[in-house]
Amino acid sequence: MSVEPNRHPHAVAAACLFDGVSLHRDAGVIIEGAHIAAIVARAELPPDLPVRQLPNGVWLAPGFIDVQVNGGGDVLFNDAPTPQTIRTIVAAHRRFGTTSLLPTLISDSPTKMKSALTAVDILVGVEPGVLGIHLEGPFISPEKAGAHDPRAIRPPTSDDVAMIVAQRQGVTLVTLAPEEVPRGFIRKLASASVRVALGHSMASYEQTREAMAAGLTGFTHLFNAMRPLDSREPGPIAAALESPRVFYGLIVDGFHVAPATLRLALRGAGNPILVTDAMPPVGGSRVAFTLNGETIVVRDGRCARQDGKLAGACLDMATAVRNCVRLLNLPLTDALRFASVNPAQFLGLGDRLGRLAPGMRADMIAIDPESIEVHHTWVAGRTN
Ligand SMILES: [Zn+2]
Repeated sequence: MSVEPNRHPHAVAAACLFDGVSLHRDAGVIIEGAHIAAIVARAELPPDLPVRQLPNGVWLAPGFIDVQVNGGGDVLFNDAPTPQTIRTIVAAHRRFGTTSLLPTLISDSPTKMKSALTAVDILVGVEPGVLGIHLEGPFISPEKAGAHDPRAIRPPTSDDVAMIVAQRQGVTLVTLAPEEVPRGFIRKLASASVRVALGHSMASYEQTREAMAAGLTGFTHLFNAMRPLDSREPGPIAAALESPRVFYGLIVDGFHVAPATLRLALRGAGNPILVTDAMPPVGGSRVAFTLNGETIVVRDGRCARQDGKLAGACLDMATAVRNCVRLLNLPLTDALRFASVNPAQFLGLGDRLGRLAPGMRADMIAIDPESIEVHHTWVAGRTN
């Protein structure tokens, strides 16, 4: 179901409001249509305005933006890249505070890629929870395929280029291995406003720096499925952590990357982004699903193949934020920023999404700061 903005001005008030940058005590957000009209002191809310008061202790914060979502609500985007699948995924993640996301297509055939792009194009601008698409592969390293189908991995063709750089209303993010694509490919994508991220790659530090100079600004699930940090070959991880201009996705589920490694990474100069890399069981009821013909079983919160290899995650954004606080000892405000402000900036949407401020879209969550559970979400001014 698409979300129609509530046309009548209304407000949401909380004892504590985190706007993405700082905390406000006793504040109210005035919403007009799909957008935030103003943030005022609770006492200054116009008396004739309908106001929803959040229970004491519950925070109002920006909604989560997830740039890597393979599935949810028991469906996998790759299985049927249709608008209906995307709507199911969006609805499944919304209850965990995700107010917008990028459906993520894992390496697949050109036909599947085309269908996925078409499905997303239909929904962008109609379904506010869909910001665009993330094509994770297929231009990746066979050496770091992870759970991707090795048969789908290939170099880009001129048809791929035309398809990816075509003018679109939504954001396009491509995860690729810089060492596997032709010279000029990254620059071509970046100059068409496509977001380019390194992932599933054996790139050296030098190759990564070259890709960054050509317009690469992201790193997909940093540490996982890439050349490891090494004494004499720092690789992509060092390049990501030392640059203040790049954004790197982290899967904070306690399995993909050890908490100590994550704590170290968070001391870097780059900008962390929380991602779920979610698979169908998130917000669903199934405990197993099929990926590239292989059965993936969810056990103790992990999505793994028979050989034990991780295949995406069984993680929702609220849990990722909670893990940041509990496993990484981060202040809640930092974790919230990594799930809202940073992904919005990475996608070039920082002027519209990711913060609570006048003019921004009213994408918000009511979150308990102790249990770190999401009680309500608002997407484009409408609550569920
Ligand atoms: Zn991946």
